This record gives sequence, C-alpha cells and structure tokens, in this order.
Amino acid sequence: MSALAAPFVEGLARHELRYQSCTACGHAQTLARYACAACGSAQLEWKTASGRATVHSATVVSRAPSDEFRALAPYTLVLATLDEGPRLMAHAEPGMRIGDRVAAGFFTHAGRVLVRFARAPDWPN
Ligand SMILES: [Zn+2]
Repeated sequence: MSALAAPFVEGLARHELRYQSCTACGHAQTLARYACAACGSAQLEWKTASGRATVHSATVVSRAPSDEFRALAPYTLVLATLDEGPRLMAHAEPGMRIGDRVAAGFFTHAGRVLVRFARAPDWPN
C-alpha cells in the first residue's frame, strides 16, 4: 500500500468510501494523487462519500486477471459515478445496467476490503 492511498484503504477497513477533495477548486477524485487533477493545487483533503452512486458502465469479468480474483469469477465490475462527483471502479452485484442507482457495500476477499455496489432503486436520481 502506498502512503498516498493509505487514507483510502483505511477508510475501506472502516467501511467508508473516501475521496480527495480540492480545497482550491472543489474538484473531487477517487484515485489518490499529490495534486488536483483539475487545477494542479496540492491543497487536497480527504472526505467520506455517501456511498450513493450511478452506474456509468458495467462489465462482466469471466477470466480473472489474477489468482486472487479467480475464485470470484465470473464477477461484475462497474465504473460508478459517486454522487460527490468522482468515479470509482468496483465490484457490483450481477445484472447492472448503465444508469442504475447503487449503494456501496463492502466485502473482504484475500485479506483485503473491497467495494461492492448493490442496486438502490428507492433512491431518486
Ligand atoms: Zn483543484
């Protein structure tokens, strides 16, 4: 684990989805960086997301890229747009469609806590 991503990973352990927010321009990003991807400012703070998101794209992985994930295959991955703005690639329940409203959940696999999105149809878009 890199020191840069530590707050994100620590958040997962507490079942929190964290992201970086730029205090200079308000841009939000889920991949930990040293600077804001939008304006280059290094004034970044970590925030905890609501976990609510919309599916941007979905794919079924039938051949796992590593031994670690082979036990899970086939599995669904989504690129989800968090309500706070940034996008996150994560596991999801099967049958996801673009535009589905989802909620972040968490599961532990091979000693790591991972995000898994599930449908949340009662939430407004
Ligand atoms: Zn910025």
